[in-house]
Amino acid sequence: MDCIFCKIVRGEIPAKTVHQDEFCIAFYDMHPQAPTHVLVIPREHIASLADAQLADAALLGHLLAVTSKLAAELGCANGFRTVINAGADGGQTVDHLHLHLLGGRPMHWPPG
Ligand code: 5GP
Ligand code: ZN
Repeated sequence: MDCIFCKIVRGEIPAKTVHQDEFCIAFYDMHPQAPTHVLVIPREHIASLADAQLADAALLGHLLAVTSKLAAELGCANGFRTVINAGADGGQTVDHLHLHLLGGRPMHWPPG
């Protein structure tokens, strides 16, 4: 499949990986928007949060729990932000579900 993040999962495109397990991997974003900017993605290709089903609930919870663990490990003790962009209006540019973990600076609200 011609999906950038599936290629990263398969090791066909290099990435600076910070976590791997049976269900997901996490790696540094190539265009960081904060001092810490990591993407957490399921190994399974789910195109968007908009395509997630109730049957994916355990996987979605796992992604959040891994994000929390990584925030602690990567020094986001002062807080962090988790973002899931979905669809065109959501600003999603890669059609493989991913959670952004952003930390290391104060975040602002509302987001752009
Ligand atoms: P989105 O805009 O879809 O929520 O986020 C996609 C993110 O993936 C962007 O922040 C972008 O910088 C990142 N990205 C796109 N292609 C690659 C890649 O090949 N490697 C890495 N490490 N990040 C990527
Ligand atoms: Zn994919």
